[in-house]
Amino acid sequence: MKIAFIGLGIMGKPMAKNLLKAGHQLFVYDRNQATIDELSAAGATACASSSDTVRDVDLVITMLPNSPHVKSVMLEDDKLAEKMPKTAVFIDCSSINPVASREIAAELAKHGIEMLDAPVSGGQPKAVDGTLSFMVGGKEEIFNRFKPVLEAMGSSVVLCGDVGAGNVTKLCNQTIVAVNIAALAEAMQMGQMCGVEPQKIFEAIRGGLAGSTVMNAKAPMMMDQNFQPGFRIDLHIKDLNNVVDAAKAVDAPIPLTQAVLEMMKVLHHDGDGSCDHSALLKYYQKLTGEVLHH
Ligand code: NAD
Repeated sequence: MKIAFIGLGIMGKPMAKNLLKAGHQLFVYDRNQATIDELSAAGATACASSSDTVRDVDLVITMLPNSPHVKSVMLEDDKLAEKMPKTAVFIDCSSINPVASREIAAELAKHGIEMLDAPVSGGQPKAVDGTLSFMVGGKEEIFNRFKPVLEAMGSSVVLCGDVGAGNVTKLCNQTIVAVNIAALAEAMQMGQMCGVEPQKIFEAIRGGLAGSTVMNAKAPMMMDQNFQPGFRIDLHIKDLNNVVDAAKAVDAPIPLTQAVLEMMKVLHHDGDGSCDHSALLKYYQKLTGEVLHH
């Protein structure tokens, strides 16, 4: 299949490489020339602009930071909605506000173009391995047609509902992960202050009901004071702000999300926005003056 791929960052670059490995023909663009060159060396066609990627393709994929970037590329600045073939489909893999997904889909529909929103969970390691989890919104017929393309980049591909449902599901994922990490940081810090070694707390409870993928991934990072991203606090703030917007529109109560968002904003203002989201621990360390150890 001929695929335009725009946004070759931490996630987009390995995802595009997996599409090449699966035998697809890729036309790639990013604002960062170095990442285009890397994809070109791996067999993709390097393009000088996003408009150049979409000539004569069957599918356009974006993996951009947030709603304004996707709107800029598809509707406002680059206007790919007007330039891509009417027979092609648009799949946005970025994590954006579901309201924006629906707005973009409605604009594309005016040009007769179908869209899926297909954000992912799994982070860079799973993007590299091709084992991402895709949460998809859109028409079932379009989903079935393009599912094999997503399966070249992921091990789980689930249709969650109409356009926007993928990003609603992703927001649920981001709330659960954020609150989980905050609870883990709070409990480990409290346990150490009460005189129990954090490593013992981790070992003793990881196999029980409190155990989780978040605990296994983030507790060792917290004990090592290793806050290399991973997933940056600033990107998680972006997602939780999207949760706030989406919840406001339907009057859904989100007190836990709001609390963790405020904690993340404190860290951002303290210069920790580029740290991994496991740095939520720093919020507690700053309050108590005590550093978590092994
Ligand atoms: P990133 O910042 O590494 O990559 C974004 C890329 O988009 C950059 O290379 C940037 O140059 C490019 N870009 C921005 N605007 C552009 C434009 N107008 N035209 C062309 N290129 C443009 O971000 P990422 O970590 O790859 O995340 C991408 C999306 O995936 C985000 O929505 C993020 O929330 C989501 N996500 C990230 C992770 C993760 O662990 N990093 C996990 C799951 C989902």
